[in-house]
Amino acid sequence: MIYLDHNATTRPAPEVVTEMVDALERAWANPSSTHEPGQGARRLLADARTRVARLLGCSGAELVFTSGATEANTTAVLGALALAAERDVARRRWVLSAVEHPGLLALAERLRERGTPVDLIPVDAQGRLDLPAAGRLIGPDVALVSLMGANNETGVLMPVAEVSAMAHAAGARLHVDATQLAGKAVLDFAASGADLMGVSAHKLHGPKGVGALLVRKGLALPGLLAGRQERHRRGGTENIPGIAGFAAACDRTAATLADDLMRMTALRQQLEAGLLAVPGVKLFGQQAARLPNTVCVRFGRLDSEQVLGRLARAGVVASSGAACTAAGTQPSHVLLAMGEDAEAARAGVRFSLGRETTAADIAHTLAAVQRVVVPLLAPEAMAA
Ligand code: PMP
Repeated sequence: MIYLDHNATTRPAPEVVTEMVDALERAWANPSSTHEPGQGARRLLADARTRVARLLGCSGAELVFTSGATEANTTAVLGALALAAERDVARRRWVLSAVEHPGLLALAERLRERGTPVDLIPVDAQGRLDLPAAGRLIGPDVALVSLMGANNETGVLMPVAEVSAMAHAAGARLHVDATQLAGKAVLDFAASGADLMGVSAHKLHGPKGVGALLVRKGLALPGLLAGRQERHRRGGTENIPGIAGFAAACDRTAATLADDLMRMTALRQQLEAGLLAVPGVKLFGQQAARLPNTVCVRFGRLDSEQVLGRLARAGVVASSGAACTAAGTQPSHVLLAMGEDAEAARAGVRFSLGRETTAADIAHTLAAVQRVVVPLLAPEAMAA
């Protein structure tokens, strides 16, 4: 199987598995216990914190271990909104991009239903954030702006520095969902201009169910889960094996990132060139700065599920941004936001490469596209 779905998740690296098993076997005591086994687990936690912080460019004190990016993002948003409202009741608005992860958009919907004013910043046809619109929306009543570092469907990079300047000029805070940047870009929380940042271990060959929320020094963010762990910012006995695996994944990422980025960029270009040679293919975000690993296309107007099913039978696993429900495929909110119609927004196929992807994998993928997808492209679809 050729796995080209690294934006969904990645295979845990061997050193990650080793450190996790080791932690399960040896550091199983509660890090809050004062006895020696507990203190051993506590030392592991402190060591892991230093290693994760090193990759993310934050201090250990700024790092809160969570159950993943969804929890980190939710804690960031609810905490920042509460903090702003405490100081100024008129500062209640949350502004986020229209192409955020569905988890964050679902939270926006829930908060809107409960009375929080929420605005979405549009994107252009290339998936780039509409900065003038952002400027108009980020006013003095805005408590928080949320922006992803890179879009998970298209790989389009977002203008974090510019939006940070806008948010801070308006007295608002900036939350960055950096889930798709980790392992695919150099991450530097200190230099990013973000006040809050969410990251997930399983996108960089770490385990699922663990991630980090970075909280800028001096920001007294209230936690979502009450309790004294993580400096009172995240209650609950720490997920020591998961955190150990996260640290191993960060070390491994740091060691090979520069090489991985170069290799992935070259392979992505090879894949893009091959796909663009197929008549009727549209490459989303073609003119935008994008992650080095992500290629999102549609083949004419062929439904993504049909394409993906055929590719899977040919040994290539990729994915669509569109959500599958019992009622069928829902169009991708990202592609809709880019101005695609509903049918075209159901046709997006995302290939996301990883550090294990080889040139042979790309050649095989392109051959599979020629064999099983191209024959489906009717002349009228190709004209669309
Ligand atoms: N944000 C983005 C941009 C993502 O791609 C994902 C993972 N699909 C998440 C958040 C959620 O991460 P987690 O699975 O760790 O909750």
